[in-house]
Amino acid sequence: MHDTLRLDDKPRISAKLGKFVPSLTLQLKRLAGEREAAGLPVYDFGLGETKGDLDPEIVEAGVRAFQEQQTMYADPAGLPELRQQVLRWLDLEQHYGIESVVITTGAKQALFNIFLAVCNPADCVLFDAAPWVSYQPLAVASYAFPVAVLPLAGSDNRLKVTPADLRRNLEVRPHTRLFLLNNPCNPTAQLYSAEEVEALLRVCCEYKVYFVLDRLYWRIVFEEGGYPEPPIDDETRQWLIQVDGMSKNFRRTGGLRIGWAVGPEDVMKAAVNLQSHYTSGPSVPDQHAAIAAIDHAYNPSMVDELRAKRDLLLQHAEGMPHVKIWPTPASFYSFWDVAGCFGKKTPSGKVIRTADDVSEYLVLEAGVVTASGRAFLQDGFLRLSFATSEAHITEGMKAAKKALGALR
Ligand code: PLP
Repeated sequence: MHDTLRLDDKPRISAKLGKFVPSLTLQLKRLAGEREAAGLPVYDFGLGETKGDLDPEIVEAGVRAFQEQQTMYADPAGLPELRQQVLRWLDLEQHYGIESVVITTGAKQALFNIFLAVCNPADCVLFDAAPWVSYQPLAVASYAFPVAVLPLAGSDNRLKVTPADLRRNLEVRPHTRLFLLNNPCNPTAQLYSAEEVEALLRVCCEYKVYFVLDRLYWRIVFEEGGYPEPPIDDETRQWLIQVDGMSKNFRRTGGLRIGWAVGPEDVMKAAVNLQSHYTSGPSVPDQHAAIAAIDHAYNPSMVDELRAKRDLLLQHAEGMPHVKIWPTPASFYSFWDVAGCFGKKTPSGKVIRTADDVSEYLVLEAGVVTASGRAFLQDGFLRLSFATSEAHITEGMKAAKKALGALR
């Protein structure tokens, strides 16, 4: 038989999706599982998820929705009542109507909708310098061309994009359709000020590219003054799209899979049209649960607890060998510069060369699970989620200190 006709030679997965690699987190989970099975302690700082108990009103609303059999197909744009509540939650009622709001299956789908709605094949999408793990696969799956906006060598801006960085990229990439900013940023935990956000947004308006603001952690801000809101006026309303959802600002809500986007009506209409074909809108009982969560003033108790956990981590991580710890003004991540470990040897003689190596060593030696910066295109860093118990934070930091202190 002619070689080219052999079925087993044909790629079974598309060239696009075949290139996706499962993240290192899964491998670390396996190593952590082996330690646990051997009766050794594991301190998990890996997963970015809030814990604790679900708010009772969320539980009641979900149960009620099932009891009342609110389980039929609904408006693919989302329940009108939830869309209205989203505008109130984001304090946007005076700027938009509900035609500008789409409820999605998590913030991920909101982002995917936007990429698919505004990008032609090979259009460029710009991300910040340490893009969250799923931005790139979502862009590639939309046939867009992802580019991280890197700071110039030597700049000491904690990986924040400046207007000059953005301009430089827009000048050489005229086929750019959007710039996606994550504020507060997962993984770096840095927070752009209102002035910085506005400057970047105005550059996008000038170049007529969308400014997509992923504000999924926006309630978890520890600084005075709260969340640095983008300005809304006739110019910015054309280009600003805000993405948010239930996953991070409440306890235990990541699995509800409710997100939303607010932006120009034409783009939102295209997104609704699209999702009417592939999800028909998110789960209706979960939308009722989301209404219950956001239809009243936000309870800051989770944020207060996270602030105390951040401080506890910093206290116990003080003097961490070979590591520089960045401040955490927002979110629940501690971002560690671990380049000082590179070139050092573990007690078993392995030379540490990458953030993946540091991450693997910390699991094997100390049971400390982290997320390697390589997953965020930033080798040289680790991300630790401190949305975990106080005991884990205290013991985990002790174990990490001992392990890193053993590097020679
Ligand atoms: N954006 C950022 C920055 C995230 O950290 C995450 C989840 O970790 C998402 C979007 C996706 O959110 P969701 O779980 O609501 O789809």
